[in-house]
Amino acid sequence: TTSEWDKLSERLPLWLEESRRHSVNGAPASYIPELAHAPADALGITIASADGRQLTFGDCGISFTLQSISKVFTLLLALMDQGEEGVFRKVGMEPTGDDFNSMLKLELVEPGIPFNPLINAGAIVISSLIRGQTPAEKTGRILAFFRELTGDPALTWNEQVRASEASTAHRNRSLAYFLKDNRVLDEDVEEVLDVYFRHCSIEATCQHIAKLALVLALGGKDPATGRQLVPRRYVQIAKSFMITCGMYNASGEFAIKVGLPAKSGVAGGILALVPGRYGIGVIGPALNDKGNSVAGVQLLQTMSEACDWSIF
Ligand code: GLN
Repeated sequence: TTSEWDKLSERLPLWLEESRRHSVNGAPASYIPELAHAPADALGITIASADGRQLTFGDCGISFTLQSISKVFTLLLALMDQGEEGVFRKVGMEPTGDDFNSMLKLELVEPGIPFNPLINAGAIVISSLIRGQTPAEKTGRILAFFRELTGDPALTWNEQVRASEASTAHRNRSLAYFLKDNRVLDEDVEEVLDVYFRHCSIEATCQHIAKLALVLALGGKDPATGRQLVPRRYVQIAKSFMITCGMYNASGEFAIKVGLPAKSGVAGGILALVPGRYGIGVIGPALNDKGNSVAGVQLLQTMSEACDWSIF
């Protein structure tokens, strides 16, 4: 409603500054060396509404890499390429309760498949399911998908961040080789990882994230044209994973405190959505120990409480 939009425009600058102060309780990710340079106390937000309006506050001019936010969209593309059956033969539907890069429990789901597509192990398998003869073709299709959803033909990956992750990804490498040994991955491990690192390092702004989120909020429809960009059923699957696994092992707490489908990334981005109404993009590089933006989560909680957005 108009009054809610007015309230958001009026109160967001204050909420943002209050939330920003929580950044001191976290730090930018450093296990990917290139991410450590991010401004620790930055906080920016964009809200895009179904009727074409947009609000943007704080440090939303900065661009950042999608990291795990990209996993929602590679999942959608894999579903469009392989169908539900093809995807869920290789990856499960359950939260793990472990860290995003955990090796624990990889043996627990038969036959050694990752618990869900949003943890690293699951997302690496999803990268292998993207149609294409070569890693370059798969990456090209992923990029084309992001460009279509955001409407930005210039969207691409950040080469420094890609190279930084590729040269330090010992843990993801070991996860991938383990999956290969279990025959969950059929392809060449380094080729699959190359696709994975490239989609994780796609560089975006809060405006891009808000637009991506709005497409999900509208069940896969382009907000401007109404065209169905992604089948509604696949968006439903993606949003279910966002609620149960989108904030990793803080997904339960986030569901209680914010109550919206969301996905975080280790660069500090969060994609969140209010079904049928808004797409939200937040950036706040300082992370808590679960790998989620401290200030970003705080800001989403403040907004959700004030506007009564919880879907529950
Ligand atoms: N590229 C990152 C990794 O694989 C993504 C993790 C994340 O954003 N949580 O470690």
